[in-house]
Amino acid sequence: METTERFGAVFQVEAWVGSDLGQVRNKNEDNYLVDALNGLFIVADGMGGGVQGEKASRRSIETFSAALYNKRTLLRALEFPHDEELRQQVAELLDQAIRAANQEILRIRKSIGPKVTMGTTLSALLLLGNTGVLAHVGDSRIYRVRYRELSQITNDHSLVAEQVREGYITPEQAELSPFRNVLVQAVGKGDKIDPQIEFFDLEMGDQFLLCSDGLSNYLTESEIITVLGEPEGHRIVPRLIDCANARGGSDNITAIAIRLSTSEHYQPTTEVDIGRGFTNAPLLRGLKTMESTRLLQLGKTHDYIAGERIVSEDSIDRSLFLIFDGQVGLYRGGHWLSTLETGQHFGLFSLIDGQGRLVSATAESQVRLLEISRNEFVDLLRREPNLGVKIVWNLLKDLSFSYRQTVARLLKALSSPEDDSGTMD
Ligand code: CA
Repeated sequence: METTERFGAVFQVEAWVGSDLGQVRNKNEDNYLVDALNGLFIVADGMGGGVQGEKASRRSIETFSAALYNKRTLLRALEFPHDEELRQQVAELLDQAIRAANQEILRIRKSIGPKVTMGTTLSALLLLGNTGVLAHVGDSRIYRVRYRELSQITNDHSLVAEQVREGYITPEQAELSPFRNVLVQAVGKGDKIDPQIEFFDLEMGDQFLLCSDGLSNYLTESEIITVLGEPEGHRIVPRLIDCANARGGSDNITAIAIRLSTSEHYQPTTEVDIGRGFTNAPLLRGLKTMESTRLLQLGKTHDYIAGERIVSEDSIDRSLFLIFDGQVGLYRGGHWLSTLETGQHFGLFSLIDGQGRLVSATAESQVRLLEISRNEFVDLLRREPNLGVKIVWNLLKDLSFSYRQTVARLLKALSSPEDDSGTMD
C-alpha cells in the first residue's frame, strides 16, 4: 500500500507500508495504521498466539487512534510554533490514549478467561507541522534517518535492553540472550504502564522507519540506512521485508517507511562519479567524459546490502543496470552463473526485447548500481543520435561477445555431454 498525502503546510509526507507473515508463523499478529492526512503512523506487534495476538494489536490501534481523533483540534494546534503548555496537553493526551488501549486489552483478556496471555507493543509517530511526537510501549521500533545517520528514537522496553542500559550486560550479550523476547512493558500486560512520549523537531529530508522486531532482528543499522536510501520510495518496504524473509523470517514482519520533503517528488542526490573502476566500463568505451556523464545522468542510483535480490529471473522490467561499486552474482534456477564487477552491466536483453529476465541478480557485497530505464535510454538515442550510435555499437560488441561465448560453450557441451557446467551472462 502506498500513501502520498499533503498535510499542514510544511512538509510533503510520503509513506509506504507492508506487513508480511514471515517464513515460520501461520498467523500475522502485527497490525499498523498509516494516516498521512492526519500525520499518524502506528505499528503494533501482538502477542498471545494467533487470534489473541492479532486482536490485541488491532484493538489497541483502534482504541489509541480513536482517542486521538476525538481531540483533533488539540493536535492541529501543534502545527503552530512551540508552546510548552500545549505540548504538555498533547503529551497527556497520548499518555491517556495508550492507557485507554491498555485498559481495553485488559478488559478483553478478562472477558476471555483468567489464564489468557494477550498483549501488544504499540509504537506511534505523529507528524504535525514542524513537530514530531512519539508514543511508545514495547520493543517495536521507530528509527529516524537524518543526513544518512540513523538513530533509534524509541527505547526497547525489553528485559535485555534494561540490562544493557543499567550496564549488567553488553549489547552483544543481549543479542544472544535467551530472554531477548521478554518485555518489561506491553499494552495489556498489566495495570502499570509507563509509555515513552517524546517531542522533537522535524527537518526536511528526515526519514522514519516504524517496524516490528521481525524486521529489526534481521537488519543492522547500516543496512537499514542503505535500504532507506532507495530513491524510489515504493521499493523500500518490499526490499526490507524480502531481506528479513531471506534471512529466516522467523516472525511477522511489518514496516512503515516515511519521507519528508517539500517538493512533489523526492530528489535523490545522484552522485555520478565516473572515476575509478569505470574507465574500462564496456558501455562507456570510446565515449568522451561529457558523453559518459550524459548517459549516467539518465539513471537512478540504488544501494543494496549483501545478499539482497536486485532482479528476479522472468520478471518483466526493462532497465539496464551498471555496477558503480561492488559485486553482483547472476543466477538461473538457483545456479550461480557468473559474478560481475564494478564497471560491468547487466539487463541488456530485457532492455532490448522487453521479455522476462534471463537471470536473477543478487548483491554479493554492498552494491551501488545505476539503473537506466528503457524509456530514458530510448529518449537519449533519439535526442543525441551521434552519442546513440556509439552506445549502441558498444552494446552490439557486448552482444556479439556473449553470443560467441555461448556458441563456444554449446560446442564444448556437445562434444563432451558429461560436462554441462558453464557460465552465461
Ligand atoms: Ca514480533
